[in-house]
Amino acid sequence: KVVGVSYKVVNVASEAGDASPSTPIGVNLPNSNWIRAQYGSKSVSLGNIVYAYSKAGGSGMLREFSNDEEEIAMAEKYGDAAGKMHTALHEVVGHASGKLEEGVGTPKETLKSYASTIEEGRADLVALYFMLDNKLVEYGLMESTDVGRAEYDSYIRNGMLAQLRRLEKGADIEEAHMRNRAWIAHWVVEKGGSEVIEKIEREGNIFYNIKNYEKLQGLFGELLQKVQTIKSQGDYAAAEALVEGYGVKVNQDVHQQVLDRSSKLKSPAYGGFVNPTLEAVEDKEGNITDVKVNYGMTFEEQMLFYSDKYGHLRTGLRK
Ligand SMILES: [Zn+2]
Repeated sequence: KVVGVSYKVVNVASEAGDASPSTPIGVNLPNSNWIRAQYGSKSVSLGNIVYAYSKAGGSGMLREFSNDEEEIAMAEKYGDAAGKMHTALHEVVGHASGKLEEGVGTPKETLKSYASTIEEGRADLVALYFMLDNKLVEYGLMESTDVGRAEYDSYIRNGMLAQLRRLEKGADIEEAHMRNRAWIAHWVVEKGGSEVIEKIEREGNIFYNIKNYEKLQGLFGELLQKVQTIKSQGDYAAAEALVEGYGVKVNQDVHQQVLDRSSKLKSPAYGGFVNPTLEAVEDKEGNITDVKVNYGMTFEEQMLFYSDKYGHLRTGLRK
């Protein structure tokens, strides 16, 4: 029996708590596997946030880490569509699919600290596998499978190189999504060899060039099968081997190179958002007729305003 999955795109008016000032690009609930299996799940994509991210930061990182002009052109043409399609498939088909074997505990119980990165990686692999499928073009969801190729380029570029700029020198990769991007990218690069993804060094700088997208799709599928088995059977040892073997340790020379290459660029490693202040417009009778959206504050002013107005820890330093 197929149970419902819904996917909606909404625009965010304001965010708080864990979602502010740095925000997720979508929300998928509930987390509980048995509720998802019996009753389904709901996925919400934050449209204006996704849009803002795609317009922020410029093309500096893309230019620095792309292997050639063709890769840059593909990203410029299809990058936005590819990012959206990846997120939608990750949330809707990815997180919502797959079953645990009878009698196996929840991933939190069986895979423990690896549960989150295994689940995020599994959802990414579902998305990656389907993004080269012509069915998506037939259904009118993508213009061509080049959208998928642009996503493959971006995934490898990020997982092998670009995302390392977010780490401090000497640090391990800790965050679940960053880990899964690393273990997926490193696993397919190793298994595929230079026939699938070629490592190129020019003037001391490393680039990756995907030579066979269809074979890479096959590798994503193979890894998905492995990861689904790990989750379904609660195989802690296999999860540990995959994550620790491919997704945690960073080659120090490569890391330094990525830090050097990205330090020349103006775009920051993380994005943060300023919330607008919402002001009610009332008519003579006091009925709200409209809401004005104001962006009067800088990021710093807003943070100080929040701490002053909503900071509940009263100390001697506060007025
Ligand atoms: Zn996810």
